[in-house]
Amino acid sequence: MDKLEKHVKETLRKIKIKKNKRILVALSGGKDSAVTAYLLKKFRYNIQGFHINLGMGKYSEECLEKIKELCRLLKIKLHVYDVKKEMGSSMCYIRTGIQSRAKGQIKNCAICGVIKKWIINKQARKLKADFIATGHNLDDEAQTFLINIFKGSPKLSVNLGPISQGEIDKKFIPRIKPLFYAPEKEIKKYSLEKELPIEYKGCPCAMDSYRIQVRKFLNTLSDKKKKNIIENFEKILPRIKVNDSGVKYCEICGEPSRGRICKRCQLIKM
Ligand code: AMP
Ligand code: ZN
Repeated sequence: MDKLEKHVKETLRKIKIKKNKRILVALSGGKDSAVTAYLLKKFRYNIQGFHINLGMGKYSEECLEKIKELCRLLKIKLHVYDVKKEMGSSMCYIRTGIQSRAKGQIKNCAICGVIKKWIINKQARKLKADFIATGHNLDDEAQTFLINIFKGSPKLSVNLGPISQGEIDKKFIPRIKPLFYAPEKEIKKYSLEKELPIEYKGCPCAMDSYRIQVRKFLNTLSDKKKKNIIENFEKILPRIKVNDSGVKYCEICGEPSRGRICKRCQLIKM
């Protein structure tokens, strides 16, 4: 078996996902989520595709085309949502508004990430999914863990890990990351070998300079060292305590939230 396939099989075994569970794979058009869908299908999991069209011109159109092709190839159903329909305007428009009010303090990817998560959870619940699978890989997770430490907020890392932790709530669909232990290099190689339809151009709006800096630093390390970072994180995860009183429902939109108002509604209100 291929090294990457072994990594993913081990991860799925570790998080104990049964084959009859309904998994929605969040597809961006990029290699990580495409490989996630490909491998889950190969291992005979019950999957469907899910995509949010961010309305970012040609880039979004190309992503959607690749995703449609991938889902045809894998013979899986695809659900497409439009950010304009869900939020009232395109991602660029939403971001510009929030950033001008927040005086540029909030990064593009942070805004987009919060909004995507909100839409995915809400719609996945309507589709009666048991899990949402994303394409986050070892490199992404090691970066996020280090960024949280550098920013002095290690508690934010409580959301990392191959399966979402914390309160079980009927309105919250647990998220899984089958590529959690898989290095980015291996995923790219695999996606090229399998000739999967993929948009290899990155998002034109991804300008999170801090993450780029941490990625550059991590890329000076071997995959083994990146894995050590993740394994150390897993050792301390049970000791990270979050001061919250469980899941609440956002007073504005009714979606599950750690605080009175969810992150999406906090951004919109800004
Ligand atoms: P990102 O936040 O762009 O780093 O993406 C992380 C993961 O979120 C990807 O691997 C996908 O699983 C998912 N994702 C990103 N963009 C989209 C999108 N437009 N629609 C659905 N899922 C997405
Ligand atoms: Zn809300």
